[in-house]
Amino acid sequence: MRVRRRLLVANWKMTRTPAAAAALARALVAMARPAEVDLAIAPSFPALDRVGAALSGTGIALAAQDVYVEKEGAFTGEVSASMLKDAGVALVLVGHSERRLLRGEREPDFARKMERLTEEGLAPLYCVGETRAERDAGRTADVLRNQLAALDGFSAPPPGLTFAYEPVWAIGTGLAATPRMVGDVHALLRAGIAVRFGPSIAASTRILYGGSVSPGNAPGLFAEAEVDGGLVGGASLVAKDVAALLAAAAAPTTGAARA
Ligand code: PEP
Repeated sequence: MRVRRRLLVANWKMTRTPAAAAALARALVAMARPAEVDLAIAPSFPALDRVGAALSGTGIALAAQDVYVEKEGAFTGEVSASMLKDAGVALVLVGHSERRLLRGEREPDFARKMERLTEEGLAPLYCVGETRAERDAGRTADVLRNQLAALDGFSAPPPGLTFAYEPVWAIGTGLAATPRMVGDVHALLRAGIAVRFGPSIAASTRILYGGSVSPGNAPGLFAEAEVDGGLVGGASLVAKDVAALLAAAAAPTTGAARA
C-alpha cells in the first residue's frame, strides 16, 4: 500500500463564472471516482460558495487559488484566510508561478500566507518550480532550495502542507516534464523537506506534479513512486479528462514508464 494517498487538485484559474463552475463541479460529483485518490477543486473566489454547495458531503475538498498575507483590514480586493475558512475551503494554493510572474510575489509573501493559513487551520499547497532558463543553466536545485526558504520561519511544517512541483515552462504549454525529470526533482524536494523537518515528515508529505498533465501523459507521470498526484489546470476543466486522471492516479506505481 502507498504511504501517501494520492491527491488531484483542479486549478480552474480565472476561467468559469460561478454558475458554470457549479455545473462543472456537479458533473465531477456525478462521475464514479476511485476511492484511493483524493480530489480537490480550486475555483475562483466568487465561485467558492456555489462550488462548495455542490461538493458538500461528497468527500471532494474545496480549495482556493490564493490568500492574502494579512489577517484583516483595509486591503481592498483581498481575501483573508478566515474568509476562506468560513467558505468551507480546506486547501489553499500558495506561490503559484502565475502569481510569482504576474504579481511579483516572492518567498517572504508565501511565508506570511502560510502563517495566515496555519492560524486558521487551512492546509497550504506550496507551488515551486524553475523556469526554462533556470533549468537550462543547471540551476533547478538552487531555485528549489531558495523557494523552500519560505518555510524558514516554521519549526514544524504548516499542518497539511503539500507541495506542487510545477516547472514554469510546463504550465499551460502542452510540454509536460518527463516522468524521470519529475521523479528526480521530487526526490530532491523530499530530501530538502527531510533536512528541514526530519525524515518521517518528509516521507509523509505529498508532492504533486503540475504542468500540462493530460490523460495521455498521466499514466507515465503517476507511475513514478515519488509523484503523489497532480495540480492540474487545463485538463481539470473537462469532466471526462478528470475521470481519466483519477484512474491514472489510482493505478499502482511501477516506475516502468520512466523516460
Ligand atoms: C496549473 O495551473 O497549475 C497548471 C499546471 O496548469 P496546466 O495543467 O494547464 O499546465
